[in-house]
Amino acid sequence: MPNILVTNDDGVQAPGIQALAKALDAVGTVTVIAPERNWSAAGHPKTLHKPLRMGPIHWPDGRTAYASSGAPSDCVALGLLGALDIVFDLVVSGINSSYNLSSDVFYSGTVAGAMESIINGVPALAVSLGGPESGPASSQVAEAAAAAIAAEIAAETLAQGLPPFTLLNINLPRHSRDDLRGVLPTRLGRRVYRDVLDKRMDPWGRPYFWFGGEIPTGIPDDGSDIGAVEAGYVSVTPLGIDLTSHTTLAQLDGWHFPSVGTR
Ligand code: MN
Repeated sequence: MPNILVTNDDGVQAPGIQALAKALDAVGTVTVIAPERNWSAAGHPKTLHKPLRMGPIHWPDGRTAYASSGAPSDCVALGLLGALDIVFDLVVSGINSSYNLSSDVFYSGTVAGAMESIINGVPALAVSLGGPESGPASSQVAEAAAAAIAAEIAAETLAQGLPPFTLLNINLPRHSRDDLRGVLPTRLGRRVYRDVLDKRMDPWGRPYFWFGGEIPTGIPDDGSDIGAVEAGYVSVTPLGIDLTSHTTLAQLDGWHFPSVGTR
């Protein structure tokens, strides 16, 4: 049986990760290392300036999971660097309680957990379920559908393999399995954030700030992750770690850069 490391960013007690771990039992030997608190939108930290703690806890279903003081990326690093002396074949991060589409992938702790895995040479999946606005199914029904579909994609990933430094970012609208329209391979689309800066005053007359505003929307282009979930499909976007803009790299050949050095 392959060894599967499961993490998330909503915290080790979140229902999404418990449904995911249970579904993955059919695919491999599951080990859970997840943050003891919520790290949503906390990006990709590496904790270097203080010790990391990790200890066993018990879920309501009786499983022993490991709760860590670190971020999702720290949890994956702990697992892959041998905290439990297990060699992992796959990392699965989720199920997040809202979408991670388009440029959300830069903020997402869920995706960061999967990114940490591929940086270390282990294939990974990130799994996110749209919020209540994305579909009518109850949390339990939608999570069960998402967990079962993620487990089937995990089995296929292990069978097919992924190119080096590649993960699959999976997003599902909140539907029952029967109400989902299918599974579509996609590219990242374009998010439209509607953030509003809320400036307030503290009791001492000093300003403080909240990032507020409405839930982000997006441009539902055909072939994009945003288009797929808006049309009721499961979106599967392969992501790599090479952020190089290759078209711009070619254009830079024509630039007059400062004359530096003697070569
Ligand atoms: Mn989250």
